Amino acid sequence: MNLLIIRLIIFAVLFFAGLKLYGMYREWKLDRETLEQNPERRDGGQMVRCQWCNVHVPEQDALREQQQWFCSSAHRDRFLQEQREEAPTQHQHEDPDKRD
Ligand SMILES: [Zn+2]
Repeated sequence: MNLLIIRLIIFAVLFFAGLKLYGMYREWKLDRETLEQNPERRDGGQMVRCQWCNVHVPEQDALREQQQWFCSSAHRDRFLQEQREEAPTQHQHEDPDKRD
């Protein structure tokens, strides 16, 4: 009879330990999912500078074009337009580093 009670106790302990582990696993998984959904939370949100107006904006709100950052599509378009006007006929067919 004693053995049965000990078995019951062991079973109960294992059962509650399993429940607790499952709860911890669920919390861990939820944490991971929120981190994956908001990756900027990991590095605290990096700031980048708009090439047009020099305003600093969080990386996730900025736009990237030609390895430059912009705060909005309007500034990106204006920057690209000005770039085109500054260098109107410089179409390079060859890579300048690839001499010889
Ligand atoms: Zn801007």
